[in-house]
Amino acid sequence: MTDRIAKVVVDVPAQETNKIYDYLIPDQLLDGLVPGMRVVVPFGPRTIMGYVLAIHNHSERDNLKELANVLDVQPILTEELIELGKWLSEETMSYYISSFQAMLPQALKASYKKSLHRLAPIEQDALNTLFDGRDYIDALELLEHVSLRQINEAIKRGEAEWDYEVASKGKVKTIQMVKKVGTLDQFDQYLADLSRQSKKQFQLVDYFLGLEEAVPVKEVLEQNKTTKQTLSKLEIAGCITFFQGEVYRDPHQADRFTRSAPLPLKPQQKQALDKINQALTAIKNDVFLLHGVTGSGKTEVYLQAIDTVIRDGKQAIVLVPEISLTPMMVDRFKQRFGDAVAVMHSALSKGERFDEWRKVHRHEVSVVVGARSAIFAPFDRLGLIIIDEEHESSYKQEDHPRYHVREVAIKRGEYHQCPVVLGSATPNLETYARAKKGVFTLIDMPDRINDSVMPAVSIQDMREELHLGNRSMFSGALKEAIQARMDRKEQIVLFLNRRGYSTFVMCRDCGYVSECPNCDISLTYHQRHDQLKCHYCHHQEPMPKTCPTCESDSIRFFGTGTEKVEEALNQTFPEARVIRMDVDTTRKKGAHERLLKQFDNHQADILLGTQMIAKGLDFPKVTLVGVLAADGLLNLPDFRASERTFQLLTQVSGRAGRHDLLGEVIVQTYTPEHYSVELAQAYDYQAFFNQEMALRKAYQYPPYYFLTLITISHEQLLKTEEVARTVVKLLRKHLSDEAIILGPSPSPIERIKGRYRYQCMIKYKDEPNQKAVLKKIIEHYEPLKRKENLSIQIDLNPQQL
Ligand code: ADP
Ligand code: ZN
Ligand code: ZN
Repeated sequence: MTDRIAKVVVDVPAQETNKIYDYLIPDQLLDGLVPGMRVVVPFGPRTIMGYVLAIHNHSERDNLKELANVLDVQPILTEELIELGKWLSEETMSYYISSFQAMLPQALKASYKKSLHRLAPIEQDALNTLFDGRDYIDALELLEHVSLRQINEAIKRGEAEWDYEVASKGKVKTIQMVKKVGTLDQFDQYLADLSRQSKKQFQLVDYFLGLEEAVPVKEVLEQNKTTKQTLSKLEIAGCITFFQGEVYRDPHQADRFTRSAPLPLKPQQKQALDKINQALTAIKNDVFLLHGVTGSGKTEVYLQAIDTVIRDGKQAIVLVPEISLTPMMVDRFKQRFGDAVAVMHSALSKGERFDEWRKVHRHEVSVVVGARSAIFAPFDRLGLIIIDEEHESSYKQEDHPRYHVREVAIKRGEYHQCPVVLGSATPNLETYARAKKGVFTLIDMPDRINDSVMPAVSIQDMREELHLGNRSMFSGALKEAIQARMDRKEQIVLFLNRRGYSTFVMCRDCGYVSECPNCDISLTYHQRHDQLKCHYCHHQEPMPKTCPTCESDSIRFFGTGTEKVEEALNQTFPEARVIRMDVDTTRKKGAHERLLKQFDNHQADILLGTQMIAKGLDFPKVTLVGVLAADGLLNLPDFRASERTFQLLTQVSGRAGRHDLLGEVIVQTYTPEHYSVELAQAYDYQAFFNQEMALRKAYQYPPYYFLTLITISHEQLLKTEEVARTVVKLLRKHLSDEAIILGPSPSPIERIKGRYRYQCMIKYKDEPNQKAVLKKIIEHYEPLKRKENLSIQIDLNPQQL
């Protein structure tokens, strides 16, 4: 008997639809349908999209509905990714559909517009009639008239190809192309005539003769400074032909990369590479923790390991934090592997991202360099996964499905029996603990290339400065150091941690603070527009002239924002050229790159910025790094605050003196005695690890305990509280006595976008029952969720509290 039952996950993200549905496959869709394809299905009164996870020969149910249509000719999910998606949903307690959508580029998500692109006359009558006068046909329309088999055959003969994107309006990637056609019978005569009659046309023909491939019309016109009329004349003469063609939307197209050769390795690099290569040869899924200080040559190790992988005919994924996906980082991979590299990050347009994905899907590349979601690149012969800066908090997705990329990488590594390399100068505490236990293999790279020493870090106590009467935001030492660099024509990076240190407006007489009416946080002052803004809900209002409560006019903004620092810099160092990098100055596409290039070309003396300048940058002329407010992170209500501070300070210090010039780091803080500041100054990861682990143990935090965070939100405060209290009660009742249940308590930000938020936390060592209990609770509140828009979010292993 033929297998006729398709197991489908449908595009309805809700608890009650989070199942795998059975559909009958009608005759005309039977041919060529395999798991991993997108389908269109009837669902209640609607027609929606879904993914086929499996095809079986029986169903537990009768009266099955039929699939309405198939949208793919090639599966877009591999067998591995289908399994991974199911695992992801169970692991993170998210809907199946959310997991699969998270694995695919947006262009392939729940939209079933797709077209067939005709390349040449198609013989079959049905297809021919359909294509009459058209180059593209919508997939749904097409499948109404011909079978998938007929389409498949046309594609096999190279007469047509699927084109996902054409139909998604406004993002047409096809453009008019020109190519030369076969020599005319009397081509020589034609040329001879042309050379006499029209220099212009003759030169153009000459240009076409030199072309290897078809070229976009636009490019031809630009390069030859000619017109479309001239081109048409060549077409009439039968010299060239126009057709609709496809080019990848490649953001790096214009860049020219000089190929780089592998460097002769230093002993510590060689020892690291040997270990990774051993696992590659043995086809073992070891997980390595490459603990190497900034500038110890980790990236070169990655590059050479990938080289082995490619020569084996396999593929590699390299993950870097979004923020450090700078042109510099991308260049290093493009320079080594050229066109074998696809790049995936959020600054790409939807179309560009889809094109990079297709390069992977079509096996046109063997390396992906990308941010978090690139872990789902549809490679089928994975040989290596690398996660650089593995401690970065951006590797955790904060929305459905709430996965940590490290766990997904390990899962894929198991499937492909390939090694996973986690690299960091300041590994995540939990990762390092796993390495110490022997779960991961630790590789140390303690020395910097060329034995350059880490820059000296000096700590400036800002309380002292205040006592000395210095009310400016620069300590005396920092002022002097900046001036010295200016005099020597060297460069300076100033780092300001914005989170927890934004500019808020306060009345000095009565203590009034301007707060957002919708969210429970203070508003931030933006000088450029003289406005107060909320960073959560984008509420904005004018800066008050007098205090709204006591009418005093001593209402001012406090704290330190990048704009304010920029202003202070301009006052203190009028001759300094300053580049400011923060969310405001980098909003426009390409702004990030442009500003960095300017700084690299020494068009500015000082680079001032937030987190986004802390990593990955490598400027030879930077000899001073200043951290303006080191305690910004320390004051956050999060048990990882010390770890983050240590990581950040170490990271930032790595930016100074990476080359011949000696670097210096100045850290300004109000709490110089804090161990994370002191130990970062001493570059002592081990000591920090030991001290922090002792605290984690004492306070029952990871890695000694697992955490689950449950956040309840609702428009009414009373309802939110009530549900939260009941949830805690249910947890107490159904979990074991070993589980520690905290709360309910208001979330750190109690109200966002007009909704109240309460949370409770589970700390546990082993609760095999936990997911089942949580699932019951969610199911119980399902009606309230629909009726009153109650929301219950569950984060197993939260990274930001
Ligand atoms: P990390 O990734 O650990 O920060 P990198 O791989 O970026 O370190 O190396 C730091 C610098 O040293 C880079 O400029 C790199 O080109 C250079 N480098 C790396 N390995 C070698 C080597 N074996 N010989 C010479 N220079 C090297
Ligand atoms: Zn007041
Ligand atoms: Zn707000």
